[in-house]
Amino acid sequence: MNRQKNIAVVGQGVMGLTCAEKLLQRGFTVEIFSKEDFLETTSLSAGAYWWPHRAYPEERVSKWAATTYDVYFRMREDPDSGVSFQKHYRFCIDPDDSSYALQIVDEWEKIDGAEHGIPCHEAFLVTLPVIEVPVFMARLREQVLENGATILIHEFGSPTELFPRFDMVVNCTGVWARDFADDPEVFPIRGQVVRASLPEGLQASTRLYQKNDNFTLVLPRSGDVILGGTAQEGDWSREVSEQDTDTILKRCTELVPQIAECEVLETKVGLRAGRPEIRLELELSGPDQPVIHNYGHGGGGYTVAWGCADEVAELATRHFAA
Ligand SMILES: Cc1cc2nc3c(=O)[nH]c(=O)nc-3n(C[C@H](O)[C@H](O)[C@H](O)COP(=O)(O)OP(=O)(O)OC[C@H]3O[C@@H](n4cnc5c(N)ncnc54)[C@H](O)[C@@H]3O)c2cc1C
Repeated sequence: MNRQKNIAVVGQGVMGLTCAEKLLQRGFTVEIFSKEDFLETTSLSAGAYWWPHRAYPEERVSKWAATTYDVYFRMREDPDSGVSFQKHYRFCIDPDDSSYALQIVDEWEKIDGAEHGIPCHEAFLVTLPVIEVPVFMARLREQVLENGATILIHEFGSPTELFPRFDMVVNCTGVWARDFADDPEVFPIRGQVVRASLPEGLQASTRLYQKNDNFTLVLPRSGDVILGGTAQEGDWSREVSEQDTDTILKRCTELVPQIAECEVLETKVGLRAGRPEIRLELELSGPDQPVIHNYGHGGGGYTVAWGCADEVAELATRHFAA
């Protein structure tokens, strides 16, 4: 029955592609639309590792994050998945409202920041999923295409433009939901990161958490290291800032002196979708115009993606079964 239902997924970032995959698994026919090329999406500019940064509310996020953690746990067995598990040092200079995530992970311990030369509010050594974005996303995109979805580059002004051609719209437009869904609660959190050559022997990642526009992150991957970063609320600029690059390199070298050996390979900027709460709900803009919104994931899209996609697929199934 689902096969006869055509669903338009707007967005080919991590949320659009995970939703498409889950909808395809339930037998829906899926067409994906994106105003941007795949490589230009915010999703492709992320690090990324599993942690619910700036994603709310805690109760729903912890459920989606737990589901997603389990998916990555299974994926780590496959060397081509782009997912691995890594030791991560988290030094919280300020109290951290996302520490509840420790209840979800399998391995963590409290450590003394001062012993590592970083006096702080609290510190942890935790084993976390690292998502090597270019590998993981290319594979996910290939998978949804193989499973029957199509992807077209096209910009829409609002969900209503997709009716009556489609039976349902799934809105995964990230920060651009501000216009697409006419939602003034969405705002950009600009993120700049540096990709650099991998210093020999660097295996664990390190994060200094502070409540300001800059944070310090050293995230080694299989062939490079991601250095972060910025989280500038309200800034729509997608241009690289040389000043941000200098600050990132300076802070990362102070935290992990080996970074001084790195060669800068690339600098990336992406706009995270900030929102007081993630919007994941079914809206009926008319009796035949069901829209499932799935946006506003802040700095935690990779952390909640599979849990959110399950809920989207369940909402779609229930809607058509009613
Ligand atoms: C520097 C940086 C580091 C990050 N690190 C992490 C991390 O470590 N862990 C983590 O979990 N998360 C991290 N994030 C956050 C994560 O990347 C985002 O939450 C996630 O990518 C959001 O995915 P999305 O699919 O919602 O949005 P996007 O990737 O922005 O995709 C939106 C899609 O919608 C399309 N679109 C928008 N408007 C329209 C329209 N009107 N018509 C047609 N198409 C449209 C776009 O073209 C695009 O395809 C990071 C983000 C940044 C920027």
